[in-house]
Amino acid sequence: MKVHEYQAKELFAAYGIPVKSHRLCQTAHEAVEAYRSMGAEEVVLKAQVLTGGRGKAGGIKLANTVEEVENKARQILGMTIKDYPVQKILLCEAEDISAEFYVSFVVDRNQKSVVLIMSTEGGVEIESVAWEAPEKIHRHSIDPLIGLPDFLARRYAFCLFSQIDEANQLAVILQKLYKLFVEKDASLVEVNPLVLTPTGKLVAIDAKMTFDDNAMFRQPEIEPLAELSEEEQVEASAKAKGFSYVSLNGEIGCMVNGAGLAMATMDMIKLQGGTPANFLDIGGSSNPRKVIEAMKLLLSDSRVKVVLINIFGGITRCDDVATGLLAAFNEIESDIPVIVRLTGTNENEGRELLKGSRFLVAQTMCEATRKAVDIASKSY
Ligand code: GDP
Ligand code: MN
Repeated sequence: MKVHEYQAKELFAAYGIPVKSHRLCQTAHEAVEAYRSMGAEEVVLKAQVLTGGRGKAGGIKLANTVEEVENKARQILGMTIKDYPVQKILLCEAEDISAEFYVSFVVDRNQKSVVLIMSTEGGVEIESVAWEAPEKIHRHSIDPLIGLPDFLARRYAFCLFSQIDEANQLAVILQKLYKLFVEKDASLVEVNPLVLTPTGKLVAIDAKMTFDDNAMFRQPEIEPLAELSEEEQVEASAKAKGFSYVSLNGEIGCMVNGAGLAMATMDMIKLQGGTPANFLDIGGSSNPRKVIEAMKLLLSDSRVKVVLINIFGGITRCDDVATGLLAAFNEIESDIPVIVRLTGTNENEGRELLKGSRFLVAQTMCEATRKAVDIASKSY
């Protein structure tokens, strides 16, 4: 789960990590008001979108006068950055910059730990530094049982600074960032740039955080910060109904019992030259309510041209599934073609029940996916 810069900066401030004063604005008028009340001469206007590279896209602009604030706020609010329309801007007191550094903590699955990544070459070109001069990137795994005590924080801080005063400031910031990371179940906390000012102070100019979705049940303060895209909202409501659902961009809606079979079904569709609209595992049950909910979910996606139901009857018997499907479709009004492939326990009885119904019954997975791809390709 991602949050905006302004939300991450609130958390930074709460943990004592130095940030400049700032105000969230939705209109150019609000930006002007905020500028007047802030009392800073120079400010920076920053697009609040859930993606990086705002500076390069023109979404970060300095301003010195009321006119500039108004014009630039208007410009930024009209922008779309990597498909994200800008609806909010953050007006920040500008900082004089002597040098820009990069600092982040991220979960490293290979190391099975959190890793601290730092560089003296922070700023908007950090990706090319990682690519062209990897020796300028410092990485330190954090032992979860030891954490980041003073001696380690100082040792790491001296990778970026040779002066004790600056290194001490960084050591404290590293410890606070790590504390924030652990306590809030983050998967990333990134400060790029962390700047050194002409007066020798370190300040976080940018703030980026992502959180572990699976930990949100114990993060009552973080969960409400989520701003879900339309697609993510659908996925979240599916999760609440007990489905495992991922939206994709094809036209064949899939309803499958079991994650492995769902993956295999998607592979087969691809193999036949089609594209699945989703991954959907409805779990192991023939409960008609579940089928109705799953079908509603699939039909809410206007790209779906055909539905493919692929069921393996193990403990769940195919005749039960067929009865469930018939009951479910009594309640659903839709003329979208539905292909059903049943295999396993009582498959013949199941198919017998579906004879003469609205369903297109297939025997094998190959036949079922071929039919689905066929119908999808003809429905244009
Ligand atoms: P990003 O491009 O989305 O990572 O946005 P950032 O917040 O990191 O800003 C991009 C760049 O704009 C920074 O690397 C700085 O060079 C510059 N910038 C941002 N805030 C300030 C500021 O307060 N003062 C100055 N002089 N430059 C800034
Ligand atoms: Mn940045």
